[in-house]
Amino acid sequence: MSLPDLTEASLADLVSLEGRTAVITGGAAGIGAAIARRFDEAGAHVTIADLDLAAAEKTASELSRAAAVHLDASNSRQNIEVAEGVVEEHGRLDIWVNNAGIYPFVDLVDMTPEQWHTVISLNLDGVFFGSRAAMRPMVAAGRGVIINLASTAAYGAEGGGIAHYTASKHGVRGFTKALAFELGPSGVRAVALAPTLVETPGTLADRDAISAGMGVENAHDAFAEQIPARRIGYPDDVARVAYFLASDLAAFVSGDTILVDGGLRSR
Ligand code: NAD
Repeated sequence: MSLPDLTEASLADLVSLEGRTAVITGGAAGIGAAIARRFDEAGAHVTIADLDLAAAEKTASELSRAAAVHLDASNSRQNIEVAEGVVEEHGRLDIWVNNAGIYPFVDLVDMTPEQWHTVISLNLDGVFFGSRAAMRPMVAAGRGVIINLASTAAYGAEGGGIAHYTASKHGVRGFTKALAFELGPSGVRAVALAPTLVETPGTLADRDAISAGMGVENAHDAFAEQIPARRIGYPDDVARVAYFLASDLAAFVSGDTILVDGGLRSR
């Protein structure tokens, strides 16, 4: 099987997600919620799968046709149940975004094996579990896209306190290549996104502690000065690229990790 030639398709058809289904792990807030909004706007049936069911329900209620389900993305069985639920309801699974991730700060010299494993089991094992759940119906249908949230931390160490996170995101980048390599012949694409610092509930919660540690008034403003675009990201900066990658515009893009960083790593 080979990917279809879309040369004759209209732009309107290429950008539409009408009739497609999408699952977004950790989609209740931050980057995941922004991705859910764009996919919904493009016509997809979005399932927001989040540890915080109440928040997922609230985010889904603000969209046109989204559903909310509970998911601990670090649990293999639960990922499979979410995928099976979508196939049961809609008869297809087209897009799966492994977005759920955590970034608790702890210096490496103080890091316990439990702290290490908590991050790896969601940020890396969870990406494998989600991909595994999604790829079965996708391979059977001969189409689908898996999008993984990596980070600019998938390219280098970006500061202290996130060694486990940095290792997990390097792993996501490598795993995405393997996914694309193995699933490509079945018509399934896999890509990853590498945002720089983005203003989300998660990073806002950390900002004051980091500011205090750095001895600056606002760590986000201080970080923005390193970015050629002179600002940090908004969730929708990432969501628009996720949308492009999910759409047929990107039908021949697979295996790579796409930087969404205002030029940070061009330095
Ligand atoms: P966030 O903390 O703002 O929101 C995360 C969402 O995931 C929440 O709704 C939370 O309830 C949910 N969640 C947490 N643990 C979960 C679990 N075990 N199972 C399912 N859902 C769970 O996060 P964010 O900042 O939007 O980050 C989203 C992704 O983007 C993460 O993978 C993160 O590593 C990546 N990323 C974020 C940034 C950034 O600066 N915000 C930069 C690069 C990469």
